[in-house]
Amino acid sequence: MVNMDSYRELKGFCSTQGCILIAVSKLKKEEDIMTLYNEGHRDFGENYVQEFLGKYEALPRDINWHYIGHLQRNKVKMLTGKTHLIHGVDSEKLLIEIDKEAGKAALVTRVLLQLHLSGEESKFGMDERELYEVMNKITSGTFPHVKVCGLMGMASFSSDQEVLTKEFSFLKSQFDLYRSDEFKFMSAGMSGDYELATRLGSNMIRIGSSLFGSRQ
Ligand SMILES: *Cc1c(COP(=O)(O)O)cnc(C)c1O
Repeated sequence: MVNMDSYRELKGFCSTQGCILIAVSKLKKEEDIMTLYNEGHRDFGENYVQEFLGKYEALPRDINWHYIGHLQRNKVKMLTGKTHLIHGVDSEKLLIEIDKEAGKAALVTRVLLQLHLSGEESKFGMDERELYEVMNKITSGTFPHVKVCGLMGMASFSSDQEVLTKEFSFLKSQFDLYRSDEFKFMSAGMSGDYELATRLGSNMIRIGSSLFGSRQ
């Protein structure tokens, strides 16, 4: 089931704020994706490789698939050429693998680097130092088959506005350091915190439960 009121509200929000709405369809039926597709929506987010591959094969080719889950290196090959954007690139090793597989397929894979934001909620993401080192290699041309389009972050699973503000602001300050015509997306904000995230600089929000209902 898709909440169409919520979809319209989020579309309106994104058009006034100038952000991209990613409909996070993990664990949801293809039918639900098609409901939004038929409204003209094209950006969908998935977290699990096997589930994504099934949907990729079954659904229209002009969908922009955002891979937003944690990606293991041994699964990169399966995604190559199928994603619009991979959000959670959380290590140099993973970036090397994505570059290698894209090279073999003679294409360029678009990615976001994931910055570690929360204290203990998620162990994934680079710290400031790692990001700096990886960005240096990127600007010196070490990864010719990836295009790094910005940063992604996941804030703590908390309703404490102060904590969330601190985390999103940190992401924004790092984003601003590297911002360019190509490095232009800050992917942050989910159903519970997207308004705060966009107020603090996010221009790409990933919304699941508000659109498709809760997941069990
Ligand atoms: C599941 C998920 C979302 C969507 O979360 P909701 O709270 O359902 O909106 C966003 N980003 C990532 C990385 C996710 O795994």
